[in-house]
This record gives sequence, C-alpha cells and structure tokens, in this order.
Amino acid sequence: MQHNECDLIIKGSYILTQDENRTLIENGAVAVCGRKIAEAGPDKEIERDWKAESVIDTGKSVIMPGLINAHTHVPMTLMRGVADDLPLLDWLHNYMFPIESGLTRELVELGAMLGCAEIAASGTTAFLDGYMYEDAVGRAVDQSGLKAVLGEGFFKFPSPFFKTAEKAWDTVKKLDDLFHDNPRIRTAVTPHAVFTTDPDQLAESMKLAEKLGLLWQIHAAESVPETKLTLETFGKRPIEILAEYGLLTERTRIHHCVDVTADEIELIRKSRAQISHNPQSNLKLGSGICPVTKFIAAGINTGLGTDGAASNNNLDMFDEMRTAALLQKGFLRDPEAMPAGTVLDMATINGARFLGFEDTGSIKPGFSADIIAVDMDKMHLKPVYNPLSHVVYSAGGQDVALTVCDGNVVYRDGKHMTLDVESISREAEKAVKWALKRLG
Ligand SMILES: [Zn+2]
Repeated sequence: MQHNECDLIIKGSYILTQDENRTLIENGAVAVCGRKIAEAGPDKEIERDWKAESVIDTGKSVIMPGLINAHTHVPMTLMRGVADDLPLLDWLHNYMFPIESGLTRELVELGAMLGCAEIAASGTTAFLDGYMYEDAVGRAVDQSGLKAVLGEGFFKFPSPFFKTAEKAWDTVKKLDDLFHDNPRIRTAVTPHAVFTTDPDQLAESMKLAEKLGLLWQIHAAESVPETKLTLETFGKRPIEILAEYGLLTERTRIHHCVDVTADEIELIRKSRAQISHNPQSNLKLGSGICPVTKFIAAGINTGLGTDGAASNNNLDMFDEMRTAALLQKGFLRDPEAMPAGTVLDMATINGARFLGFEDTGSIKPGFSADIIAVDMDKMHLKPVYNPLSHVVYSAGGQDVALTVCDGNVVYRDGKHMTLDVESISREAEKAVKWALKRLG
C-alpha cells in the first residue's frame, strides 16, 4: 500500500469545510503537510492514503476553519471592564484616551499577549488589529503562532504618539519592514476615524498605503453623534468625506458603518471597499445597528469583528456570530434575514478576504492549515442535527478543543502551546492599578 507522507492528521465527527459548496464531511479527517492542508475527506480515505507523523483524534467534534476577527484592538484586553455603560464619544474621550495616552510598549505587549491567548483559546486564528506600538503587538502575535494584520493607529497631529506626519509615516514603514518576511503577519495603514483626523492627512495616508501596497482601514459611521460631529466640523457625513477625498478604494476597510444612507452603501459598493460588522460593540456602546444585510445584498464583502475587549467585552467570535445572527432577525422582524451560513461565511471565508489572507477561511487542499475543532461532547451541544446550527447558535469559544494555525498546534484541550498564560494573567492583574491611576 502506497502512502503519502504528511505531518499531521486531524480527525473528528464532522468537517464544516466552508468551501464553495459549504461541503459537510461526516467522520472526516484533514491531512496537513507543513503549513498547508493537503487533503480533507472521510477519515477512512485520508488514513488509507496518508501516513502522518502525528494524529489528533478530536472525537465527537466539529472541525472547521479557524475563525477570523475582522476588527479588534487586542491590547485593549487590559481595559476590559474599566468603563462600561457609556456612549461612544464619552467613553473614548473621558476614559479610553486618558488611559491610552499613558501606555508604554511593555503594557501594549502584555495586553496583546493576553488578547492572543484569549483569541487562540476561542478558536480564532487571524485578526485585523489597530492600536499603538503595533511592533509590540506583532511580537505577541509572532510568539502566539497566530496570524494578524497590524495597524499603527494615528490621530490628528500632533498627538501623544506622533507629533508630525513624517514621524507617523516613518513608523508605519518601519512596522511594515519589521514583519515583511513573516508569513503570518502583515500591516495596514490605520487612521483612527474621520472625526479624529483631518481629510488631507487621510488622503496622504492613502498615498502611503498605495505606495507600500497595504490595506487602509478606518472606523467610520459608527454612530449618529459621530455623524453630527463630522457634519459640524467638515460639513459632510463620514462616508461622504471618504468618497470626496478618494479614500473609498479596493484597499479600504471600513469598520462599523452603522449610520449610513442608501447612497453611501452604493458609494462603497462601487468602490469595492469592504466593511466589518461589529454587532456587540455597537450594541454595548449604544451606537445602533449596522444594516449589514443591505451591504451583503449589495455584494459588498463583509467581515465580522469583536472590536476591542473594552467595548464587547470579550474576543469570542462564536459569541459574536450568535449576536450577528439574532440581532438582524429581531431588528428586521425576519428570521430568515441572517441565516447561520451567512454568519459563518462572514467569520471565515469573507473574513479572510477582508484581511487579504486569501488562502485561509476554508478547509481545502492548498489552503493554509488554520483549523479548529469544537468539542461537541457537551450537554449544551446534544443532540447534533446540524453542526452548522450548533457552531452559530449553541457553541461558545469555551467549547474549542483545538486550534491549529499555519500547521502548528497553538492550543489544545485547555493548554496553550506557545504562550505562558500564568505569567500573562499575573501581570495583567497588576495593570488594574495603573489604569485606575490614569483615570484619577
Ligand atoms: Zn474599533
């Protein structure tokens, strides 16, 4: 009997492949060679055709692509729960910004380590980040074994982080250079928002993104007060500003899009820009509800994100999928408005497109071996009629038993393989005193 050699075989009761046909394989297995998926199919066929150095049998489980978080600020785990029940602008200006202006590179790295530990343990393998000291975030991502697109955030100059445009652009270039040869890490040009920057600065930053061949991401149209503020300052709504200054392009990624008009959705569609949907953060900050079904109906690629842990307050993409599905059903009084399959697409294949990682988000040959297993042998997940229904409506991040990223096991059965979670937890507890002192 002739066997092909591979490094790892992962077995489980079901595989949700998220391929073009959303193929479901029962009693399936995935053969992994190095960083790539070699084959996925019924376990008998895979074990007949492949010989692996190691075999992980995940038992009664659902194997699926690692989830993709389209919008977060991982270091904000350090601010989880420091200020709740506040509107966006009050929360930002009176709580987040005063704490953040005192951040050090070491604290950012600690928050990112904590975030990466939570992300890996809850079945997410890639995320799009935006924060300060992203070189430190990159170190955490590199150590964790996860994938990320890193964005060094900037505000109107001068800011506590950048006195001039030259300094900001230089930092963005250096960040891109630093991770240029790392296959798991990319970067994005990251202005914070229309109301915290100015249009000329945004236009200049887009030129930089074009020159470096990077994505360009921004928060926009997150809430009605933001629109009001933007109208008062610039005489136009946030998406109108983006359109007027040539900032709606194929490389544009817009987070939130809660307060948008039909014309603005059309502007985004025509430009082939993409959006991220962040329902829990929008609900928690009382920002409103993104009309996400309109974006999807228009053919605009839409990812799903948690936003930072200070406005969510976790980084659990299973939790986020459930909210995304339920919210639109209730909002539109239509149980068919947001089916489980559409939500899972947002959190997998469409999220991968959003991040520009085109070879992840599905389990199929040649794709990156970014694979998770959800343990179905739990009371709240019995019986199983339809695994897709369970992963969206019944399971949570705590049900993840295995996380493999880029062919490497990063988390298995409650244990982190790449991060020292005990020391991360200990240090994170100490950050409480520091943050409260910043708030006086
Ligand atoms: Zn955000």
